[in-house]
Amino acid sequence: MTPDPGLVINGAREGGAPIGGFLNWTFPLFRLFGIPIRCHWFYPVLVAMYVLQALAEGGARHMGWMAMVMAALLVTTIVHELGHCFMAQSLGQHADQILLWPLGGLAYVGRTHDPRQDIKISAAGPLAQVPIALLCIAILLAVGKPWSWGYLNPFEAWWPYGFTFWEGLCLAVLKLQVVLILFNLLVPAYPLDGGSILVNFLLMRYSRSHSALVTTYFSIPIGIAITIWGFVQRELLLGFLGIWVLLEAWQIRRLLQWGEIEAHPMFAAAPEFDYAPPRARRPGFFARWRMRRAERRARQEAQRTADLRQRVDAILEKVSREGIDSLTGVERKILEEASREASRNRDSQ
Ligand SMILES: [Zn+2]
Repeated sequence: MTPDPGLVINGAREGGAPIGGFLNWTFPLFRLFGIPIRCHWFYPVLVAMYVLQALAEGGARHMGWMAMVMAALLVTTIVHELGHCFMAQSLGQHADQILLWPLGGLAYVGRTHDPRQDIKISAAGPLAQVPIALLCIAILLAVGKPWSWGYLNPFEAWWPYGFTFWEGLCLAVLKLQVVLILFNLLVPAYPLDGGSILVNFLLMRYSRSHSALVTTYFSIPIGIAITIWGFVQRELLLGFLGIWVLLEAWQIRRLLQWGEIEAHPMFAAAPEFDYAPPRARRPGFFARWRMRRAERRARQEAQRTADLRQRVDAILEKVSREGIDSLTGVERKILEEASREASRNRDSQ
């Protein structure tokens, strides 16, 4: 199984990537919506290997099954990459080409250099697969299969009892979508889509070099885990995907060491746009309530002080007019209170 159909690579990669030379072994396939689709030489070799292996292990029927799964994967990959391309174009960026290679697909698209917009470009690939999943569900229901949440669970049977070849294929394609959407969105290891999303979240808050460093804190352990898991499970492509994640992390670390992180396509500064830190966040509901309460109390306190001063003035005027003995008990109390307040204010200043 190809573990990942869609990885968005932002900007030109030639020369910068650790596997840049390897990625250039390609030939053109066709154009779709004006976007050239190219194919890596290893891609057909790999597909042929899978199909022939299926023939050797399970005969013609199994080979037919594998060929159909490979075709579905190809369509899925192209839809996923078109998702990246269309979102990039809708944000005013260029989409140069889609490359099909052994680890899935690569969309060569421009970056907006606004992290919020670039997150949309990264998420658009996996989200473009959602309609495929919905279509599979609709077909299964239309042919009379009762709905089961197990259809969405990749750990339950991919070809359950009672399913025909085509129903089984439909279910397998559905589960493939679930696996690939979750894997791409939720694994925060660059250059997977989830990793690009992580990078852009970091760039909203931190400097380029700090974001790059934190990115590798995620991708190195994840890359090691994917590599070990892939080779232990004999899912060689998964193993190579882990190695790719590690190579990219190593590349980022090397650029950081040289102080040249701007040379990396993900961390490149755009000449025309540098992201401004987000404006101060609007305080939350409770914070606003506390602020209003504090303001109200301050107003009440100021009012009380003003009232007191006015009454004290009136009393002092009465003293000067009629003498100290003319004061009532209440008036004396007010004077005492004012004097206490005055001494308190002196102490606190
Ligand atoms: Zn992708």
